[in-house]
Amino acid sequence: MRSVSIKELLTGKQLLQEITVNGWVRTFRSNRFIALNDGSTINNIQCVVDFEKFEDDILRQINTGAALRIKGTLVESQGKGQNVEIQVKEIFVHGGADPEVYPIQPKKHSLEFLREKAHLRVRTNTFSAVMRVRSALSFAIHQYFRNNGFYYFHAPIITGSDAEGAGEMFRVTTLDEKNPPLNDDGRVNFKEDFFGKETNLTVSGQLEAEAYAMALGKVYTFGPTFRAENSNTSRHLAEFWMIEPEMAFYDLDANMDLAEDFIKSVLKYVLENCEEDLLFLENRLLEEEKSKPQTERSEMPLIEKLKFITDNNFKRVTYTEAIEILRNSKPNKKKKFQYLIDEWGADLQSEHERYLVEKHFKCPVILFDYPAKIKAFYMRLNEDGKTVRAMDILFPGIGEIVGGSQREERLDVLKEKMAALDIPEEELWWYLDLRKFGTAVHSGFGLGFERLVLFATGMGNIRDVIPFPRTPQNAEF
Ligand code: ATP
Ligand code: MG
Ligand code: MG
Ligand code: MG
Repeated sequence: MRSVSIKELLTGKQLLQEITVNGWVRTFRSNRFIALNDGSTINNIQCVVDFEKFEDDILRQINTGAALRIKGTLVESQGKGQNVEIQVKEIFVHGGADPEVYPIQPKKHSLEFLREKAHLRVRTNTFSAVMRVRSALSFAIHQYFRNNGFYYFHAPIITGSDAEGAGEMFRVTTLDEKNPPLNDDGRVNFKEDFFGKETNLTVSGQLEAEAYAMALGKVYTFGPTFRAENSNTSRHLAEFWMIEPEMAFYDLDANMDLAEDFIKSVLKYVLENCEEDLLFLENRLLEEEKSKPQTERSEMPLIEKLKFITDNNFKRVTYTEAIEILRNSKPNKKKKFQYLIDEWGADLQSEHERYLVEKHFKCPVILFDYPAKIKAFYMRLNEDGKTVRAMDILFPGIGEIVGGSQREERLDVLKEKMAALDIPEEELWWYLDLRKFGTAVHSGFGLGFERLVLFATGMGNIRDVIPFPRTPQNAEF
């Protein structure tokens, strides 16, 4: 049953040959022209049917969405818009799609409508293009790390530790939720659970990656992570994929260099290997923007924007410098917020981040050396005793895309920080071991894969760049 992919056919190499192709009908015009797509490319192949040669029963089943096998001859096309087409000799209908009920008709559907049809939306041009780019990016990520001496390491999904102490974890339990065993104090007794303790879905594989970096040198995880944060934004999911490299003997500067080179390399891969899909997505955006006021349109078309990122340096700015810039910025009277932060030490809000990236520097920004108070306990304290060697990478239109740091490698300092935050040593005894035995300077970062896909595809909502988005109140299947 091997057939040729439509992508291969469109190169025209099989001209005048008998070929077999499988795919799904996008449109069927005038009982004569089938536009067939098999997922290998954004483009359809035109299949020309001489309807007098086929029974009505077959023709009636050729509706948008039907799956067909077509045998025929590949010939040059006289029509506009394609170089080759198939003169159809045989049609086999794998399965029809009743036009009365099949929801993906050849009109333009809204993204909101398609979100309700997560199992079928990938049959549209927009979603198939996004998912092909997503797949290419995953490949580029593995390739980058492999070429740079990293080992792919699998962090556990079920974990007993709460990496950030943020309390945004999904609990994993085998206990009977209606009738759980209780301790004397009335709290659930997790000792009787499958794992014998309270366990959660991981929010990050970082701590475990540190253990592996302390033996293999350079490692990375690329897997699903979970956050039970009740934030209904266009940038947050309850289940998202994170790329987390961790490197022994890297300080923060080396970490920033790696993060920048990594992002540029994988975007370059997409520019070189996903041209058709990017062009489609770029045109889609241009169409969409026509209905927006001039001031809200993006300054660069998608492909130019990606090239701008790969060809220019990211701007590196300390938190303290950023606060100075924000203090001296003029408040924007038209909008509700003001770009003012009075106090050194406050966390930046997304308005501030956007101002720095989109208005002030007009390029990606790496903010580093944050106040210790607003960052996690494991970050390396600077000599000033006030700031930590943390970095966030901020992207235009996206906001935070990377969070990373040099890790605190000194046992005594780490213990002090944990004590100050009431993190019991027993909970992270193994993490402290890494500082007791052969500790070394090390660093790493976490990059939200979907935020990268958002940027690469120009899509506006994170729900539209992951196959089956998990958000509050939404996990139907
Ligand atoms: P944000 O400030 O946007 O909530 P964060 O600082 O909480 O992000 P980190 O813990 O630093 O996130 O995680 C590292 C990266 O993972 C982030 O820079 C971002 O790219 C991504 N990320 C974090 N939370 C989510 C989420 N809920 N959905 C999708 N991606 C996320
Ligand atoms: Mg967050
Ligand atoms: Mg953040
Ligand atoms: Mg962060």
